[in-house]
Amino acid sequence: MFALCDCTLAFFYKIPFLFSFTNIEEYHKQLDEGKTTCLEATSYYLEKIAQAKHLNALVEVYISESLERAKHLDEKRKRSEVLGKLHGVVVAIKDVICYKDHKVTAASGILKDFISLFDSTAVTELLKEDAIVIGNCNCDEFAMGSTNENSVYGKALNALDETKVPGGSSGGSAVAVQAGLCMISLGSDTGGSVRQPADFCGITGIKPSYGVISRHGLIAYASSFDQIGIFSNSIGDTAKVLEVLNGPDVYDSTVSHQEKRTFSLSHQTAKSKTGTYRIALLKNAIEHESLDQEIKRKIYTLADNLKEDGHEVSEIDFSLIDFIVPAYYVLTTAEASSNLSRYDGVRYGYRYQDNGDNLSSFYKKTRSKGFGKEVKRRIMLGTFVLSEGYYDAYFTKAQQIRRLLVNQTKEIFRKYDALILPTVPTTAFESGSMQKDPIAMYLADIYTVYANLTGTPAISLPLFKHTNGMPFGLQVITNNYDELTLLEFSYMLMNNYKTY
Ligand code: GLN
Repeated sequence: MFALCDCTLAFFYKIPFLFSFTNIEEYHKQLDEGKTTCLEATSYYLEKIAQAKHLNALVEVYISESLERAKHLDEKRKRSEVLGKLHGVVVAIKDVICYKDHKVTAASGILKDFISLFDSTAVTELLKEDAIVIGNCNCDEFAMGSTNENSVYGKALNALDETKVPGGSSGGSAVAVQAGLCMISLGSDTGGSVRQPADFCGITGIKPSYGVISRHGLIAYASSFDQIGIFSNSIGDTAKVLEVLNGPDVYDSTVSHQEKRTFSLSHQTAKSKTGTYRIALLKNAIEHESLDQEIKRKIYTLADNLKEDGHEVSEIDFSLIDFIVPAYYVLTTAEASSNLSRYDGVRYGYRYQDNGDNLSSFYKKTRSKGFGKEVKRRIMLGTFVLSEGYYDAYFTKAQQIRRLLVNQTKEIFRKYDALILPTVPTTAFESGSMQKDPIAMYLADIYTVYANLTGTPAISLPLFKHTNGMPFGLQVITNNYDELTLLEFSYMLMNNYKTY
């Protein structure tokens, strides 16, 4: 899988790299001034990936291809051609995002060795703007999980403490940015899979509003929840990549028809500490029994500091909180049971080989062997909640809760600009600790699934460090399609309220 035996790379290993990355703007300045090249940057990341192989963040690395592309981009710059917005930006993508002629397996045995026949729209947009895709990243199988332990490639490790999980499902993508193996990475977020690993790894992770980034070429888990999200080390970089990825797409009818938006952040306004943001703090979320006391304290302190600096911060009631996780797991497993029915051994990937079988036993054996335990659990759960006699009791009820949540959220954003809450109730879990208790793992999604149920944009900001040594994030949510306020407010918070 990890094809690091390329002789071109061996040549580049000998180069003493002076390269360092802070953000895309700086990198572009360095390129303009001739202080670095795309080739140097790419070679640097390839070496870092080789050194960090044990973290198991990437499952495939496109060595010669990325070096070739880097050289081509350097030549383009030399010829003074018009350059893309992400010129030479080194990106890694989650193993659920299709890239033509590259393996895409959703970290599942059932898609073993499957090669993508087309580019996802996200990849098309990245390439159009001159990005370099360096490889694809480990994740939980079909993006189901919170630890990156349900992967056919084995677990990915948190680079800050290798005994801890990096979070999931986009764990590999988070570690790729955390450990400096690329500049930016893409993940997918159905119930927190970008924000939760960003929280555990101490980086920024955004899930835009539903319908902002095309899902064309994103392997589906639960289609009315799934969104591609972005991992980065700075809000400015997040804004730049979101600018490239958002916009209408003929291949995805759920994407907004709004023109592509720009998200350039006004340094002046966003940096100013005193302001008049109207911020809501969900009382039932912050007072929830599952929340770590230190996380709670630090968020309250932040709220006090914001108030002192002139912002309006109000605690508001949110009594639906305990219905959020059940509604999410009923609806997403229902959608997953339907989405994953296409993996039957006939059309894609793994096929159980036994010619004597009849058709239904062939399907059964293929699916039993091809899917992992967590995926099978969810397919069964989803099939059950959709079954005759139970549909109204589970699926319909969960849809009703979703509607109530959407209505309540609309009300909140009539009065407030942003909502703040924790991203996860605890810091990164010990490896293996969630494997025996899937319910505990599901309950830890309490703060992230809300934004997917309501379609709102949400981000996890690495503002805090726990006394246990691990980082944790603040989650910010804004109104549907209000990514600009989300980014500006985040920029202001990161500039003024980072506590370590
Ligand atoms: N932890 C959530 C789940 O297991 C998140 C998944 C996701 O966002 N892809 O469903």
